[in-house]
Amino acid sequence: MFDSLTGKFANAFTALRNRGRIGSGDIDEMCGEIRKALLDADVALAVAESFVAKVNERAQAALPDLRQSTNQSQAIFAIVNEELISILGGAARRIRLAKNPPTVIMLAGLQGSGKTTLAGKLAHYFKSQGDTPLLVAADLQRPNAVNQLSVVATNAKVPVFAPEVGNGVGDPIKVARDGVAFAREKFHNIVIVDTAGRLGVDIELMNEAKAIRDAVNPDEIIFVVDSMIGQDAVRTAQAFLDGVGFDGVALTKLDGDAKGGASLSIAKITARPIMFVSTGEKLQDFDLFYPDRMASRILGMGDIQSLAEQAKRAFDGDTAAKLEAKFAEGDDFTLEDFLEQMQAMKKMGSMSKLLGMLPGANSGAMKKQLENFDEGEIVRTQAIVQSMTPSERREPKILNGSRRLRIANGSGRSVKEVNSLVDRFSAAQKMMKTMRNGGSIPGLPGGLGNSAPQAGGMRKPPPNNLPNKKKSRSGNPAKRAQGEG
Ligand code: GDP
Repeated sequence: MFDSLTGKFANAFTALRNRGRIGSGDIDEMCGEIRKALLDADVALAVAESFVAKVNERAQAALPDLRQSTNQSQAIFAIVNEELISILGGAARRIRLAKNPPTVIMLAGLQGSGKTTLAGKLAHYFKSQGDTPLLVAADLQRPNAVNQLSVVATNAKVPVFAPEVGNGVGDPIKVARDGVAFAREKFHNIVIVDTAGRLGVDIELMNEAKAIRDAVNPDEIIFVVDSMIGQDAVRTAQAFLDGVGFDGVALTKLDGDAKGGASLSIAKITARPIMFVSTGEKLQDFDLFYPDRMASRILGMGDIQSLAEQAKRAFDGDTAAKLEAKFAEGDDFTLEDFLEQMQAMKKMGSMSKLLGMLPGANSGAMKKQLENFDEGEIVRTQAIVQSMTPSERREPKILNGSRRLRIANGSGRSVKEVNSLVDRFSAAQKMMKTMRNGGSIPGLPGGLGNSAPQAGGMRKPPPNNLPNKKKSRSGNPAKRAQGEG
């Protein structure tokens, strides 16, 4: 997602940081680089220029004060971040629910933009929030669209209103109107209407979309746009805005390796907020859009908040509470817990996508690791744990050679892989014990192990005012002198 843009921003900042004292010319230079990076990423010219002008103006104005500042580049970085949040729409905007349900959401956009896929994701999302969404199949144009929506609805476990087979047959306006009436009758509080798109913007498409709009009077019209179509995204958005009008934007296919910059221009040019992003074909490849979090990702600072939220969603309340209680009570972390955690992680979606939310994920070394990340690892690990008996999972110490061989055969893996899993598990178990006893995670700055939230919201209970651990004497005489002197 915006990988090359992130890389170029990073280069511009590194150059600035290496300057020592920053002068007016350095800011001009950085702005020039940013402008080029934005244009290379397909950001619309007008948006790129106004962004750079704003950053330059603010950074130059701040420079006299910054001369005294020890962290000039950091202050300029903050300005860039704020301006980036601003072009991405400022504050996050959510669906406005109708006073009198159902809330009608109409999806519009070109064929292939990802409307049907997004319809399923939205329904799935609303359902997880306790709503009772209904999908309405009013794309009677694209071959197989009705069938596809029905499949998506089944996956999302939400009902679909699909009285016509589609494939060019049936009246989409009537279907949309009847769908909303059906929802009202059956007390669905949200209706999502999937409409037809065409390969390009044309009069017929606009007229059909307008007619559906007038028939169902949507509370929100969401323009769905494929972020891989480059500058065309902006032109199409403008055409839909003039032709049908819309309230918000859903960006799809942000998982692609396209430059994606055009989609960044849409909020600014149409003055409509980006509300949702789609990052893959699966139901869970979906996010609410937060301008600040996206800016953070583009600037290479990652998106820890979204990561934490995904973890919370994936660990259902029971699993998280159980793990937390075990942890607090000092029970051992077993392979059964390990398996539960792994299953929850699988629910969170692709591992490389998750790790991609970490700060620095776009930096050279980490990017390479992410590209090489083997998604099959979780599946293999799961197969091994599932081939163990419950007592072996609870007490891996009993895993002697013959048991390990049996597990290897049962899971279709090698004894070496079983051994490696048991070793990794033992290390994780040891780390949990260290943390519980007040130590820190090896490799992390001292004390972080005590306060960093764990997956599923696990946290070490407060230490009851007791000293964390016995003060140890450092082996390093210099440190010892510091600590004790
Ligand atoms: P529609 O014609 O607007 O209803 O588009 P579809 O929902 O059928 O999507 C078109 C194609 O894009 C399908 O093959 C989808 O699986 C795929 N697709 C949709 N959203 C995404 C996404 O976010 N990422 C990727 N990689 N593919 C997507």
